[in-house]
Amino acid sequence: MQLYNSLSHKKEEFVPHEEGRVSMYTCGPTVYHYAHIGNLRSYIMEDVLEKYLRFVGYDVKRVMNITDVGHLTSDGDTGDDKMLKGAKREHKTVMEIAKFYTDAFFDDCKKLNIKTPDVVVPATTYIDEFIRVISSLMDKGYAYEAGGNIYFDTSKLEKYYVFNDFKEEDLAVGVREGVEEDENKRNKADFVLWFTKSKFDDQELKWDSPWGVGYPGWHIECSCISMKNLGEYLDIHCGGIDNAFPHHTNEIAQSEAYLGHKWCNYWFHVLHLNTNSGKMSKSSGEFLTVSLLEEKGYKPVVYRWFCLLSHYRKSLVFSWENLDNAVTSYNKLIERIAPLTQESSGDIDSAEFDRLRKSFTDALDNDINTSLAITAVYDVLKSKTSAATKLALLADFDKVLGLDLIANAKELAEQSAATVDDIPAEVLDLVEQRKEARKEKNFALADELRDRIAALGYEVKETRQGTEINKLS
Ligand code: AMP
Ligand code: ZN
Repeated sequence: MQLYNSLSHKKEEFVPHEEGRVSMYTCGPTVYHYAHIGNLRSYIMEDVLEKYLRFVGYDVKRVMNITDVGHLTSDGDTGDDKMLKGAKREHKTVMEIAKFYTDAFFDDCKKLNIKTPDVVVPATTYIDEFIRVISSLMDKGYAYEAGGNIYFDTSKLEKYYVFNDFKEEDLAVGVREGVEEDENKRNKADFVLWFTKSKFDDQELKWDSPWGVGYPGWHIECSCISMKNLGEYLDIHCGGIDNAFPHHTNEIAQSEAYLGHKWCNYWFHVLHLNTNSGKMSKSSGEFLTVSLLEEKGYKPVVYRWFCLLSHYRKSLVFSWENLDNAVTSYNKLIERIAPLTQESSGDIDSAEFDRLRKSFTDALDNDINTSLAITAVYDVLKSKTSAATKLALLADFDKVLGLDLIANAKELAEQSAATVDDIPAEVLDLVEQRKEARKEKNFALADELRDRIAALGYEVKETRQGTEINKLS
């Protein structure tokens, strides 16, 4: 399997540390607000990656944090804790906010068929672990105390900007928009491991530590939660592309300083969902949620389909028109699958099964090319193989795609069948006679039967999906 690695900027053959097993870490949501559909694009594409790894036989262990403390409104370690901002906005406690939006996040995931990771850790439950790792970084000389906070000293590293050959002055704190300079930092790129009371007096959640009462920085959370649950060698780390710098860059800095060796081999970054006015973001306050899509009558699974139609390494533009196009193509696909669910099951043609399955795995083996994998779905429908083979393939593919293909097709077929139940037997009989007449190419008789059906108040039509009978109004 070829996977693009943000560290090397190229596709690489995926080889896990331990044969047959994959350790996978995902940056979880900051639970101060609803996840927007941009966040969920990242989680959908990561879910496809995880499910595909399982599909090809890996034993996957996936871990995710919940950021319920320490993520500040600015990348440069300034501003309020986002959680505090959420609590103030809703006149609730931070823990109430965290609980509410964590539950909301998993509800959204469920609607989008995103599997819950094997281990989910709220950052506030790992404070001792953060303190232990920060103490070790202090002992090793990678961290220092200044103005009451504990900082990571990036000058101690051979290379800090690992994802890109950025020029330090282009990215360093103080240059990026909205980022204030922190005078305590020895180097512009240094970042906070532990905040103390020296700042943010109204911070609600604080813990005792060797450096005073305070709270952890956001970056240390992911390093510690990953290392504790997945060990010293991580195979794949995922996240949205905005996390590459500074968050993932800092995770690598502190994890490798702590471990004394390379930590994670593959970095999987999902590009952003944008609107015509730019990146969809929680902080701007203008964003779309799954509930909003539902209120507008969209099935959440159609948003998953919309995401799968594009490659995860391309930014994706959201517009209602684009979503409507996705609804149309999804519905057409389901209409094509529906009749298959009603056919008597024949034998599975194993040669055809293997051939068609291979085009699906070839697509996903090529850096999770989901749009090509969807082409493989259409290839199944176009093939001349038995309905049983087609259904078996679609059910198999859907273990990765998560599009409810069979369930929705069955539902549609049953709805159509229910409508047939309401049609008088006399009409159904004439429809059958007309089918025979058409088969025998007796079009004059077919036309006569159509007129007789119309006289009884029904219209009969041949469509790509078969014969359609509608009541005339
Ligand atoms: P947050 O809840 O802000 O910590 O973000 C959760 C995840 O969503 C992270 O992996 C982010 O990188 C990702 N993310 C944020 N904005 C977008 C976006 N517009 N499109 C795709 N992913 C995003
Ligand atoms: Zn993270």
